[in-house]
Amino acid sequence: MPNQGKSGNIEQTLILIKPDGLKKSLTGNILSKLSETKLIIIASKVVCVSPDLAEKHYTHLKDKPFFQELVEYIQGNHHDCKRVMALVYQGDNAIEKVRKISGATNPEEADPTSIRGAYGRITTKGVYENVIHASSSPSEAEREIKLWFTPEEIVSDLYPSKMVAREKVEVLEWA
Ligand code: UDP
Ligand code: MG
Repeated sequence: MPNQGKSGNIEQTLILIKPDGLKKSLTGNILSKLSETKLIIIASKVVCVSPDLAEKHYTHLKDKPFFQELVEYIQGNHHDCKRVMALVYQGDNAIEKVRKISGATNPEEADPTSIRGAYGRITTKGVYENVIHASSSPSEAEREIKLWFTPEEIVSDLYPSKMVAREKVEVLEWA
C-alpha cells in the first residue's frame, strides 16, 4: 500500500568531523556509519577553522570552564591538523538519527557501537575528544548551517536568501 498521507519530518543537520577524526583517518569509517541513516548529503567541504568561527560555533558554551580548550580543539591546535570536514545531511528526522548514531557527548558513556563510543576519548585535561559534532535541535541546525555554509554551497534552497551587490570584492583565482 502506498505511503499515503504520511507527511515526514524532513530536517537538515550540520555534521562536523572534528580534527581528531581527520588525524586518526576516521573520515571513511564515520561516513560509512552515517550512511546507515539513509540520509542524503546536501553540502560538504573541508574547513580550516578560524578562532572566530570556533567561538561562534560554541557560543552556547562560552561560560563553561572547558570553553578555551574546546575552541583550541575544534581549530585543530591539539592535533597538528587544522582541518574539519563539514557536511549537511538531510532527511526524515535527520537530527535525531544522526545524534543517535553519534552517541552520547561523553565518549565513556556513549554506546560502544556509536561513533563517539567507538572512536572518542577523554583527554587528561578533561576535554571530550569525540570525533564528531551533530546539531541537537532544528533551531541549532539552522544557526549552525548558516554559520558554516553559504547558500551557494548547499545544493538545495534551505532558507530564504538574498542577492547582495558588492563592489570591489577581491576573490582568489588560480594563477
Ligand atoms: N564538551 C566537553 N566536556 C563537557 C561537555 C562538552 O569537552 O563536559 C565538549 C565536547 O567535545 C562536546 C562539545 O564540547 O562535543 C560541545 O558540547 P555539547 O554540550 O554541545 O555536546 P554535543 O552536542 O557535542 O553532544
Ligand atoms: Mg551540542
